[in-house]
Amino acid sequence: MGLIVQKFGGTSVANAERIQNVARIITDTYRQGNSVVAVLSAQGDTTDDLIEKAQEINPRASRREMDMLLSTGEQISCSLCAMAIEALGYPVVSLTGWQAGVQTNSSYSSAKIKKIRTERIQSELDRNHSIVIVTGFQGINKFDDITTLGRGGSDTSAVALAAALKADLCQIYTDVDGIYTADPRYVKGAKKLDEITFDEMLELASLGAQVLHNRSVEMAKKYQVNLEVLSSFTKKPGTKVKEVAKQMEKTQISGVAKDKNVARLALVNVEDKPGIAYKVFSLLGQKDINVDIILQSIGRGETQDISFTVKRSDADLAKELLEEHKASLGFDRIDVNKEVVKVSIVGAGMLENAGVAAKMFGALYDADININMISTSEIKVSVLLDESDANAAVQAIHDKFFAE
Ligand code: ASP
Ligand code: MG
Repeated sequence: MGLIVQKFGGTSVANAERIQNVARIITDTYRQGNSVVAVLSAQGDTTDDLIEKAQEINPRASRREMDMLLSTGEQISCSLCAMAIEALGYPVVSLTGWQAGVQTNSSYSSAKIKKIRTERIQSELDRNHSIVIVTGFQGINKFDDITTLGRGGSDTSAVALAAALKADLCQIYTDVDGIYTADPRYVKGAKKLDEITFDEMLELASLGAQVLHNRSVEMAKKYQVNLEVLSSFTKKPGTKVKEVAKQMEKTQISGVAKDKNVARLALVNVEDKPGIAYKVFSLLGQKDINVDIILQSIGRGETQDISFTVKRSDADLAKELLEEHKASLGFDRIDVNKEVVKVSIVGAGMLENAGVAAKMFGALYDADININMISTSEIKVSVLLDESDANAAVQAIHDKFFAE
């Protein structure tokens, strides 16, 4: 028994039947003696539909007005859910972001939570013994204007509320039943993990395992909020995300992920002299282009090659930018390859186990897959491959680490 924050995503509240299902999950938790704060997303595609509506009227609408509009999606799902809970005969109140005390900065459409004044929620819980339903994704700034946290922001709302209320647990209900060792939609033998660490989850989220919003995991780590990811459609236990996870039996890694949103640029025959790498990467940094893997070849006399990866959507801009400075950088040409993919293994267990990277490379060799680039960190090894090899590579690596 304790205080539990439960977050339900858009698919979990998509229609009347599903809202009733969510109302049952919430009231079951309440009936077991817990205080419950539920944070909801907008129903199904509501947020996308609202954006479309705005485009029809003014494609260049201000962000302030966009936030005013988009915040309504969550108001609908929350009031409907409160009505469903009323019908089941339980005390309940739904609150908007501002009623719930969620104070943000003024960056409309990508606001950051500064503080949550929890008095109202606390008194609803303590004095009225109410179930509290809070709109995800939104808050209020110092001008009393409504702000939103950016797409997918309801996870962050839930974790922030759990931190502010010192909740015992924050459950993220979604349409998958947890975090897997690889994407079960295309990897045979992918298994659900019982537990995973915050650090592993952060790596997997940024690698394209889009179960949790990255900011919410960062926040959960910072405030040590116990998270659990589970499905609102099954009654199965989910995956716990925490600081230190139980050592998984014998496995050295927690998961294999692929990220298609990547492109490789190669500067061919760059002058081999001090300051070139500095110039290249500061030019990109000034335009907010994030560089991931970098590889510099050994000089051949006067020249060398520098290759690096960026997000696929940044590739053309990066090329243009460097072409503009061709004279001062002194390279022959830039090759751009958008048909690449980054495949990574992630695992806190790597810290204690030697030979993990070699095992991954071995799996790729056995599958006759060529590696273009490699990068490593404490808990991750990434390789850049041809896109056409992506699924076979993930399967081969997964088999190597997880097959009995
Ligand atoms: N409704 C918002 C979105 O679709 C927030 C969320 O779902 O987390 O982005
Ligand atoms: Mg959504």
